[in-house]
Amino acid sequence: MRRFLLLLLSIFLITNLLVNDEVCVCTSGQEREPTAQEYQKISQALFLFRLEPDIPAPSFRIKEGYCVNAWADYERNAVVVSKQLLNDHTVEELAGLLGHEFGHLVLFFKSVRGGEHWRTDIVGAELVGKELIIKQNRKQIHYLTLRKEGWLAYLLPLVRFNYTYAINDYDLRIKKVAELTPD
Ligand SMILES: [Zn+2]
Repeated sequence: MRRFLLLLLSIFLITNLLVNDEVCVCTSGQEREPTAQEYQKISQALFLFRLEPDIPAPSFRIKEGYCVNAWADYERNAVVVSKQLLNDHTVEELAGLLGHEFGHLVLFFKSVRGGEHWRTDIVGAELVGKELIIKQNRKQIHYLTLRKEGWLAYLLPLVRFNYTYAINDYDLRIKKVAELTPD
């Protein structure tokens, strides 16, 4: 009986880790070049920037799989976007997303390390305007709330924790951009 419980516990823990990675963290899943169509969508989003960031142009990479995430890879000067996120974002929402990721790169090139995450959105708002940044953050909350209500989050504390953390982060970012950025 004890062995059985231990086995159940192990399965539970491993499932937590695997699903969390698959849904939130995105380490698994293949990375690749954007297709011509994906690249076109990225270009359309970049076209909405009102200010060109003063950094070397980054490359773009797509992460396959179910996960919803995007991040700036400083070492390669790349922006990685999950396929799911790219597909589910409109061009305007994608511009907000890229504004945020470019914000990470701009701060990196200015040697600004650490600091609160919302500061990245302040830079992003300079690049794409505050509306697109706020729009994208709202989209992410909507997106995560929809997923949060699925059975996964309730069964898996790690996923639930990540969702809640992310939603609070987006909430704060909306508040700070609304407060601190001129129209
Ligand atoms: Zn970020």
